[in-house]
Amino acid sequence: MFRLDGKVALVTGGSRGIGRACAAALAAQGATVIVNYVRGEDAARAAADAITQAGGKAEICGFDVADTKATEQALEGLVEKHGRIDILIANAGIAIDGLLLRVKDEDLDRIFSTNLRGTLTCARVLSKSMMRPSKTDPKRSGGRMIFMSSVIAEMGNVGQTAYAASKAALLGAAKSIAREYASRGITVNALGPGFIDTDMTQSMTPAMKEQIVKMIPLGRIGSAAEIAAACVFLASDEAGYITGQVLRVNGGMYV
Ligand code: NAD
Repeated sequence: MFRLDGKVALVTGGSRGIGRACAAALAAQGATVIVNYVRGEDAARAAADAITQAGGKAEICGFDVADTKATEQALEGLVEKHGRIDILIANAGIAIDGLLLRVKDEDLDRIFSTNLRGTLTCARVLSKSMMRPSKTDPKRSGGRMIFMSSVIAEMGNVGQTAYAASKAALLGAAKSIAREYASRGITVNALGPGFIDTDMTQSMTPAMKEQIVKMIPLGRIGSAAEIAAACVFLASDEAGYITGQVLRVNGGMYV
């Protein structure tokens, strides 16, 4: 079950954290994985090398999802090379925390151009090839889009107004695109991770982490591998009847 043999998957921001775990898990199920990065080519190469050493197929592709032209060009090149991209994991995201009174316009722009516009650009460009069956394998048609939202989209959080708004926007976007493309065999879902142990959460003090764990019924912070497992499921043929949904992987923090 959940095999992805013959599929091509793009993971934006795939060089570390949740994205890296998703890339590894998709490759372990047989997908050819394109690991996108914006900075840190070495980390992306290391992620791809780890996949190939484990017997999987991976390559790297650098572009900034917030740069629409660069993203369009890179994605068109990837579609040309691979024929189609079957799975989009729109994972690239940033958080710039601060109370509303201190939020700067440029921070709002950076958050929205990465988290929201970057995701929509990838979805828009890749949807074109997902709508066409593969020339070489007609059974390969349709596609899977998975938008990395956050538990904060639905709960809100002090100091994360802009981040929460950008991640909540992804929920509305996933539901709308799911309706637009359902007849083309493309499913679009959002993943809502809770607090996950990655570089993004590393900056928290042990006291902050302790406070958060108190809010999680399962009593622990989650792992990137647990998000990756949900990603593989949503990307699989077995999840073909699931679209426009939010899959919450948060230890019960928001139910
Ligand atoms: P991370 O900071 O380790 O990884 C984010 C990745 O996105 C990095 O590889 C980064 O280089 C990449 N990225 C950032 N801006 C980019 C851009 N403009 N173009 C291309 N790539 C870009 O964080 P993470 O914890 O692995 O988070 C991954 C995703 O999951 C993010 O969207 C984040 O908002 C979301 N998320 C994380 C948590 C958590 O607790 N860690 C919880 C909920 C949601």
